[in-house]
Amino acid sequence: MSDAQETRSPATTSGAAPPVGDDLPGWRRPLVVVAHPDDESFGLGAVLSAFVGGGACVAVLCFTHGEASTLHGVEGDLRELRAAELAEAAHRLGLATVELLDEPDGALGVAGTERLVTAVLRAVDRHAADGLVVFDDTGITGHPDHVAATAAAVTAARGAGLPVLAWTLPEPVAQALREEFGAPFAGRPPAEVDLVVGVDRATQLEAVAAHPSQAVPGSVLWRRLDLLGPVEHLRWLHRPA
Ligand SMILES: [Zn+2]
Repeated sequence: MSDAQETRSPATTSGAAPPVGDDLPGWRRPLVVVAHPDDESFGLGAVLSAFVGGGACVAVLCFTHGEASTLHGVEGDLRELRAAELAEAAHRLGLATVELLDEPDGALGVAGTERLVTAVLRAVDRHAADGLVVFDDTGITGHPDHVAATAAAVTAARGAGLPVLAWTLPEPVAQALREEFGAPFAGRPPAEVDLVVGVDRATQLEAVAAHPSQAVPGSVLWRRLDLLGPVEHLRWLHRPA
């Protein structure tokens, strides 16, 4: 149990929203492991800009070019468009490096776990990472690629003895998104959330705007950001030693 959980009042552990005010870990060289270009911005953007704002040197490993997306907000080849969008978003977020692999979008789970784990371990070494940042192991949106990317990161981190911090959604937000959009969003009750962090979304919104092929009007993204407000929820998938 984290300090944050220990200091929570009984009322908050019974189901109410936990209080905001936790700090991100003081990592200097976090490695972010995601499945698709835009995950770093749409999902993790506020958390990553907070790490950068705190002086961290942040690297991203993205497994796919996102070529299988059903969204096509601008004309052109999604493989190329989304690679360029990722590079621009990383620049806007102030990320130090981005490594974009060419695993199959939509089929990351069958790409071969060992290959994905090896790629994470190489990225850990290259960046001299002191912690990993990922999507929650539910996949958040129900996308199996998100689950596969996080599973590879957790396996690699266990091998390397590194902690893994996952971005998650509070259950009420996930429930609202399920009801309003019919999408299989997965959330966590307060007892399964370790950190509740206040964030500034200005830089995230600039990074989101670097993904015009995906940040289309009416997207569930906008509603999620609306529901979350200036707060992000995180949980440990592999706790610090
Ligand atoms: Zn994604």
